Amino acid sequence: MVAATLRLVVVGTAAALLFIFCSGPTWTVVGDSMAPNLLGLHYPCRCEDCGYRFTVSPSVVDHPATCPMCGRRGLAPARSRPLGGTRLGLGAKAAPPLRRFEVAAFRTPDGEPMVKRVLGLPGERVRIHRGELWVNGRRYAKSMAEFRQTAVAVHDARYRAPETLPARWQTTPSANWQRRGSVFATERGQLRYRHQVSYRCAIPRGEASEVRAHRGYNVDVSGEPGPVNDLLLTADYRFTRPGRVIWVLRGAHGQSADTLMPDDSAILTAQIGDRAIEWSIAGLPTPARTPRIEGWQRVEFGRFDGRALLSVDGRTLLVAEANDLAGAAPRACSPAMEAGEAVRIEAATSLVVGAPRIDRDVHYESPSYLLNARQDQWMLGANEWFFLGDNPAVSKDSRRLGPVPFDRLLGRVRW
Ligand SMILES: [Zn+2]
Repeated sequence: MVAATLRLVVVGTAAALLFIFCSGPTWTVVGDSMAPNLLGLHYPCRCEDCGYRFTVSPSVVDHPATCPMCGRRGLAPARSRPLGGTRLGLGAKAAPPLRRFEVAAFRTPDGEPMVKRVLGLPGERVRIHRGELWVNGRRYAKSMAEFRQTAVAVHDARYRAPETLPARWQTTPSANWQRRGSVFATERGQLRYRHQVSYRCAIPRGEASEVRAHRGYNVDVSGEPGPVNDLLLTADYRFTRPGRVIWVLRGAHGQSADTLMPDDSAILTAQIGDRAIEWSIAGLPTPARTPRIEGWQRVEFGRFDGRALLSVDGRTLLVAEANDLAGAAPRACSPAMEAGEAVRIEAATSLVVGAPRIDRDVHYESPSYLLNARQDQWMLGANEWFFLGDNPAVSKDSRRLGPVPFDRLLGRVRW
């Protein structure tokens, strides 16, 4: 009994709005402000070069699309096949109370229903500053699980650019590696990811660049994308004999290259900029027993919010604060990273790497209608929540509408 009672909600700026129609207990998303996690009406598009499927917002469907994975331009969205918005079910608004990064629905002061992500909890002082969330004067450090909730794909090795472009994953020395599809095997060597900006901006296609925020949902109308500092590398690994593997991530600001080297001595090595340091991880949950020698393991290595995190098969084994990464004695390290090199996997052993994927977190920039607004900080009352959209450049949310009191909450949503 899903009577589709559609009621279009006010639109502040053309692409900005979010939501929603009610048809019994089911809601349908309208608008771009939670993309790419929740979609309003959208159009499918398939890249002719790499096969990646992505979606295009109605606000830009009249323009040629750009593949966010390989950078192929001039793609035509399937305009004859618009797809409906994400369907949502509505759950409780309390018991348990809403947690940070949960997605929930509420009403604006004008009574419009909206859905956004919880960023601030009652009683907190919340600040959105240079793309990051600050809570009570401290930059908020996400857990691995929280990072996954807001992750945006940067590159997935299963989607290859045409041979005419430089490969994003480069094998060094190349003679040591075998590649089949998105699986790389070596006896000893480095796998380096060099990013390329794939959407309209001043950097030519094919040229190595730092990782920048893009919005696949409306990729070519977003203007100059902001640099991104927080990355997560996910891949499946198979080790055939013991040995070291080094993971290095470098954010856009260049100073945050980190290396973790789990080995038998439970020594962890971190590299920041040109400096490598080493310290014992005794007392921390140790990855010394990983890797296993048999079977595939899913390893996630993240460098975000000032911390380095390592998970194996979904279990976070290590969280190192940035403060822990300073002060120890310098140590010889692998060659410096090249221009545009954002990720490196270095194997000192026999290793197979399957389908490496890079994600970034949401970069909380200010949309144009807030660019002149002085306020970037909000004090929440004892019964107020702060909401933000996952597509912050176009989202109308608590930055403009203010915190949401309990009596305007509708409930958490599921989809
Ligand atoms: Zn493509």
